[in-house]
Amino acid sequence: MPKYHMLIGGNLVQGHSAIDVINPATEEVVGISPIASEAQLNEAVEAAASAFPQWSRTPIKERREALLKVAQIVDDNTQELSWLLMSEQGKPLPQAISETKGLAFFIRQFADMTLPVETLEDSPTRYVEVHRFPIGVVAAIVPWNVPLLLLGIKLGPALLAGNTLIVKPAPTTPLSTLKLAELIHKVFPAGVLNVITDANHLGDKITSHPKIHKISFTGSTATGVKVMSSAATTLKRLTLELGGNDAAIVLDDVDVKNIAPKIFRAAFNNCGQVCIAIKRLYIHESIHDALCQELTSIANNQVIGNGAEKGTDLGPLQNRAQFEKVKDLLSEASQDGRIIAGGKVIDRKGYFIEPTLVCDIAETSRLVTEEQFGPILPILKFSNPLTAIEHINESSQGLGGSIWSGNLKKARELALLMDTGTVWINKHPDVDPNIPIGGVKGSGLGFELGREGLDEFVQKRVINELR
Ligand code: NAD
Repeated sequence: MPKYHMLIGGNLVQGHSAIDVINPATEEVVGISPIASEAQLNEAVEAAASAFPQWSRTPIKERREALLKVAQIVDDNTQELSWLLMSEQGKPLPQAISETKGLAFFIRQFADMTLPVETLEDSPTRYVEVHRFPIGVVAAIVPWNVPLLLLGIKLGPALLAGNTLIVKPAPTTPLSTLKLAELIHKVFPAGVLNVITDANHLGDKITSHPKIHKISFTGSTATGVKVMSSAATTLKRLTLELGGNDAAIVLDDVDVKNIAPKIFRAAFNNCGQVCIAIKRLYIHESIHDALCQELTSIANNQVIGNGAEKGTDLGPLQNRAQFEKVKDLLSEASQDGRIIAGGKVIDRKGYFIEPTLVCDIAETSRLVTEEQFGPILPILKFSNPLTAIEHINESSQGLGGSIWSGNLKKARELALLMDTGTVWINKHPDVDPNIPIGGVKGSGLGFELGREGLDEFVQKRVINELR
């Protein structure tokens, strides 16, 4: 069975103990992940702290070149990384390949960014500029749904800005990250990049660690609350990218056949385990039945199975805990609404649930009020889009959302009323390295991607000069 190593202070090291990583499509062991002790976490932090003075003073041109080397290594090893990602995460191979290629692409885009000195005032009385400095040791905590790309979104800007990094992937998807670390570890001076893995026992040790200056966290809202509270004692800088319950509003003037596959993909891609998936679908009453019929036919034609098999559209839920949670929601779906497609757990090895569409469901159903993070989509009918938006805005989360309409003016007016970090029009989602993304309310704090995302990894210093 392949064994993987952590990266601490430039060395590939074994853990204090180890756990099996399971392929969610077969329930077989993919590989053995090391588990760090608290002492190993401390070693990684010491290594990152020692590497910081030199790395922070390394010219940005050299840091950029290092990131470009990382992107090249990812490109050169796409097949191996993608296969591992598919095996531990469950997504179909073509999607794992897209994620791996996306990692290289995003890192190249970050490498292109700059840390400009901005002049705020140049007047007869005052000269004021803002400089951008690295913060120090940054911890990147990553979830299991899109492990490589979400890591890249943190690693690229954190290291470009001159910080040193401790990466901690989720315990159920550590292997692709450990493999990546093995492939790229010689690109950086020892201690600049460290990767440790845990069994969900080191999170609070990281977030309360006095020598870690910033946490960039992606995960659930519940864990985000713990992170914020634990980081408060040392007043750490925080970026929190948390859960979402994205709604899509479909107006009466759309081309139903054209949008149905796009909406289906946005809701069920990665088996619904995407923070910015469509998780509540609001359809105008005049096209409700027609769109439901199209979506049902797409759902019934999905090939569900092992992502390694050619032609698979949908893989399994990523881990047993999530599988159990979604099974619970599924049993409520038949009580709270009318199932028009799917509705069953698939009787085979692996964590498979049919893509499920639920109509005639109340706003108060847990399937509507909570993030399901699985292949079940609640569908709600409306006559007035303003009433739909009122309901949507009652959510405690606000990550993304979308408006679908042939009338762009109307769609833009409605988009401005949706209380979320992003509103897409006639698409959902659209993630680009140069466009910031962030949540409002319970969906998080701060931004990732774009200039705003890079600024989350810098400390600004104002120089204010008397003229
Ligand atoms: P999770 O919160 O359970 O775990 C995320 C990471 O936090 C894992 O690495 C985990 O080991 C670690 N962790 C666990 N306990 C911790 C603690 N006390 N302190 C610090 N870290 C701790 O989330 P998950 O179930 O792995 O991921 C799914 C969630 O992530 C969903 O809610 C999804 O919407 C959200 N998500 C958000 C975004 C975004 O950009 N907003 C992107 C992807 C996923």
